[in-house]
Amino acid sequence: MRSKIVEVSKRIYARGLVAGAGGNVSARAPKSDEIFITPSGLCKGYLKPPQIVKVDLNGNILKGSLRPTSEMPMHNEIYRIRDDVNAIVHTHAPVSTGFSCANIPLDYSFYPEVIVMIGEIPLVEYVTPTTKDLGNVATRYVDEHNAFLLRSHGPVTMGSNLEQAYQRMELLEDFAKIFLVSKLLGGPQPLPSGEAEKLLALETEKYRVELAEKRK
Ligand SMILES: [Zn+2]
Repeated sequence: MRSKIVEVSKRIYARGLVAGAGGNVSARAPKSDEIFITPSGLCKGYLKPPQIVKVDLNGNILKGSLRPTSEMPMHNEIYRIRDDVNAIVHTHAPVSTGFSCANIPLDYSFYPEVIVMIGEIPLVEYVTPTTKDLGNVATRYVDEHNAFLLRSHGPVTMGSNLEQAYQRMELLEDFAKIFLVSKLLGGPQPLPSGEAEKLLALETEKYRVELAEKRK
């Protein structure tokens, strides 16, 4: 678990989704309330597995000599609300964060991949970074979303595992770039009517087939 968090931390740093000591990554151990989370104040590009801190859902340190990220209350609150979420990635990815600073929501309705892989990405009102208020905000948005964008701060993505949470982050930032370019070129055009429903139905069907194959 620690090695996988370090790997994802290096990937977000290498892709320029965080700078300095920004961003944080966490994962929940299978069927437990033990959370592994990145430490405060260290660059994500150079972390080592022993530096990942193990905490419980109340934020008590179970193992590790470093302080967990100050944005830990947001992670814990999400894990408490969502049984199906086992990993969270938070970055200050520049393009999506630019949209959050301009207070422009990431309208995903014209882009099939985001409709299927992430869904709606709500733009959350401003709260002071690193404070407990981040956790309070999470309680209002995580129930029905796989990602949200913190106003003037950055995106948060969730997944059933680290790979999914990471891929959603990578896609979210790429989508912000696509959205920006389409705005520069005259604005994104809507998909044909009923297309979103069709995409979601296809995805559900794909999932059913995969599940049936697994059960064989
Ligand atoms: Zn942050």
